[in-house]
Amino acid sequence: MPVDRVTSVIFRKGLDLKHAVAGMLAESYHSDLVDRIKADDFTYRSGRLTVRLAREFGFCYGVDRAVDYAYQTRKRFPDRPVFLTGEIIHNPHVNDQLRAMGIGFLSDPGESIERLGKDDVVILPAFGVTVAMLQQLERRGCTLIDTTCGSVLNVWKNVRRYAEGGFTAVIHGKVWHEETQATASHAVTYGGRYVVVLDDRETGMVCDYIRGGGEREAFLARFGKAASAGFDPDRDLGRIGLANQTTMLMSESLAIGEMLKAAMMDRYGEAALAEHFQAFDTICSATQDRQDAVVAMLADAPPDLMIVIGGYNSSNTYNLARICAQRCPTFHIADPNCLVSAATIRYRPVGAKEETLTEGWLSPAGPITVGLTSGASTPDNLVGAAVERLAGFCA
Ligand code: SF4
Repeated sequence: MPVDRVTSVIFRKGLDLKHAVAGMLAESYHSDLVDRIKADDFTYRSGRLTVRLAREFGFCYGVDRAVDYAYQTRKRFPDRPVFLTGEIIHNPHVNDQLRAMGIGFLSDPGESIERLGKDDVVILPAFGVTVAMLQQLERRGCTLIDTTCGSVLNVWKNVRRYAEGGFTAVIHGKVWHEETQATASHAVTYGGRYVVVLDDRETGMVCDYIRGGGEREAFLARFGKAASAGFDPDRDLGRIGLANQTTMLMSESLAIGEMLKAAMMDRYGEAALAEHFQAFDTICSATQDRQDAVVAMLADAPPDLMIVIGGYNSSNTYNLARICAQRCPTFHIADPNCLVSAATIRYRPVGAKEETLTEGWLSPAGPITVGLTSGASTPDNLVGAAVERLAGFCA
């Protein structure tokens, strides 16, 4: 079927319906209990239970805006098909709510961008989409609601600058994550190259190569799928610029930056460093604030256990759990129903790929302090529900 030659309309600043959807959003995601806990110095007490809430947690500005725009979109286009390219944010509860409002997911089996036309409305998620996907949607003439977070746009801006300056973007991120894929696509679009490193181990391999060690074939075998097409480590690691997926662990990203800088200094000397290495901190402030808040809470006096609420595929939630697990028993749960009973909890241990069921997670008697935080894509009502369940178990 020939594609209609229609120009896409793109909304980037909402649809002037903020007030019209405020009530629905509050009903879906707000928690009076959480408001009361915040007002009470972020502490909840009931019988033998004390819950300490991190001072920064839950919906970040980017997620707040994306969800708001999705509700506005449904309101503005009640009779037109509305789609998300995939999960709008990494929280199953929020995605389910949007499905219940009749919003489709292009990632579902049977759905395809190729079947879309000018009547369709497509919401782009907070973590953005690849340049190729955006062009595909524009070619279909769809109406687009772009909720890409400003902090993600900032990463793209830096990666673009690297590309234009002849620097290869070394992206600290997860190669399968939508945001990192979108960031990588920006490097290529502006004529640049990229390689994605997950952690200090992978960064170490890149550093070895820069210093002149390392096997070319082994490098390509390891990073072939995490680098731009035709990546040549001998050519493309001569000038590098660091970028981060916005939700990585800040301390890890800083360490990775230092490792790369030291390798470039060893190879090219300090005087020539600026010609070969650039770095911009692109961890977003919301991620940073949530990480700082749990670090502060744990430094104060670690609770008996920590509960971290958020989707298992949420990068920032996982990193909060990693920080907590270094100091006390930590349970990363996807939603309050994972708190099955006073005896049983369903959670994903830090570093594991699967959920597990554990008994005896909550001491049956005596005072207990539970620390609580949630990822940037977790609404307050889930935090409130978790507190209520805990209170019930300890009553
Ligand atoms: S985690 Fe940061 S970059 Fe991602 S949507 Fe939230 S504010 Fe934006």
